[in-house]
Order: sequence, then C-alpha cells, then structure tokens
Amino acid sequence: MHTEPQMVVDSPAAQTPFLPGPLLLLGAPGVGKGTQAQILMGDFGIPQISTGEILRQNIALGTDLGKKARVLMDQGLFVDDETVNGMVADRLHHNDVAYGYILDGYPRTLAQAEWLDTYLAGDALAASGAAPGDAIFAATLPLAAISIRVDETDLLRRITGRRICPDCKCSYNIYSQPPLVAGLCDNENTPLIQRPDDTEEAFAQRMVEYAAKTVHVIDHYRTQGQFEEVDGSQSVGAVTAEIVAALHRLRARPGQESR
Ligand code: AMP
Repeated sequence: MHTEPQMVVDSPAAQTPFLPGPLLLLGAPGVGKGTQAQILMGDFGIPQISTGEILRQNIALGTDLGKKARVLMDQGLFVDDETVNGMVADRLHHNDVAYGYILDGYPRTLAQAEWLDTYLAGDALAASGAAPGDAIFAATLPLAAISIRVDETDLLRRITGRRICPDCKCSYNIYSQPPLVAGLCDNENTPLIQRPDDTEEAFAQRMVEYAAKTVHVIDHYRTQGQFEEVDGSQSVGAVTAEIVAALHRLRARPGQESR
C-alpha cells in the first residue's frame, strides 16, 4: 500500500496540527509492530521502513543480498549490521520520508542503534538547514521510540498462527483474526502464506536473538528519554490509540525542535 505524505495530521486530543516525525516501533517478534506500522502509515501518511520486508523483497527478486539473507532468516538468525545499516541509509534518501517514517524491526542490535544515532545526527536532512514549516522539518525531529510489550507465552501463538497475503502484505492470525474464507486474503482473494521463519523452531531462535541483542536496544532508547511503552496485549485498535497518544506526549515534550 502506498500513501502520499501529508504535512498536517489532526491531533485527536488537541485538534492542532501534528507532525509525527520519525517513529521507532520496538518489541519482540510477534508483538504487532508490522500491523501497527501499516495502520499508522495510513493514518499519518508516512512510510513504514521494515528491514525484514526489504530483505524479503530481495529474496523474492533473487538478488545476492536476498540469497545471503535467506539462509540466516529461515533459521531465525540476524543479518549482519553493516548490510542492514546500508539498506536503511538507502531507504532514508527517498523523498517520502520528509514528514516522518516508521522504523519497524530496525535497529535490532546496539551497534545498529548507535550507527543510526550517528547517521541521523549528521544526516543530509539535518544538514539541509530545514526550518519549521519546511516539508523536510518533520524528518529531522528526534526519533520517538515506542516499545510494544506482550507476554512471551502469547507470542508463540501469534507467530505460529500468523498468515500473510503476499500481494497486499496484510496479516491475519488463524486463531485470533482469521480471514473470512480460510486460507484466502479478504482483499485480494490470494492464497495466504506462512513466513518460513514463523515456525515454532525458528521462533525459538528469533527469541534467543531478541533476548541477547534487541533487549539492549530497548534499554538504549529508554535511557535516551524519547521513549514510551505500550501494552500490546489489547485489541489492535486499542494498541494503535495508545501508540498515537504516546507519540503525542513525546512530541509535546521540550526539546522537540528539529536537529
Ligand atoms: P521481521 O520481518 O522484522 O520479523 O524480520 C525477519 C528477519 O529478517 C529477522 O528474523 C532477521 O533474520 C532479519 N532482519 C530483519 N531486520 C533485521 C535487522 N535490523 N537486523 C538483522 N536482521 C534483521
């Protein structure tokens, strides 16, 4: 799904112009980062940047990167930092990030988070002399990090029950959010697929990676202060509402001027 960027989004709370800026969704595999990113992308008119999705596109296209990544991804292992950092740098040079963007599944290691901090601090956007009111301004706001929390016992069911439409990329769950017709996408009627890394075995390895590496990323952003945590065990709509409210709180804090 592609949506045009829009500069002004009405705040439900204050009915004042609201610029989302860069948003980072954090959390374990299966907490719903991708689902929420898709919804927020539509609501705010800013793109989702999912490193997992970029890697899957490379696999589908049979690129060298895709061939290298597939072996690791199918086992639930991380792709190396340099490769994913390079992918994100490329993606952040597209014009559609001018009003903000949603990072989903990146950064996943402390080294990636530190690379991103440095990149954004010295980024071409910041160096562009952007000022409030400029289209580019929102993209130079500080990164707002929101962590979605779900008990580990729920995650396995979410992951192994997940089915994806290969065309529109929307996501279902055979237990909690089944399609109208079993196995087929409600929008496209396309047969749904299960990601190769959504098996129980790969999920276990992904949780090992998460606990060893990504937990430190959450601590990194928590200590930086631009951080909120939301309860991901609620309905999809309730989680979206919490994320939007958290983003408004973060953007209302002092120090939210463009870098
Ligand atoms: P996701 O779609 O975010 O669940 O990512 C699927 C898989 O892609 C992960 O299990 C990793 O193998 C790989 N991947 C995605 N993003 C990253 C990242 N930031 N760093 C390393 N590997 C990644």
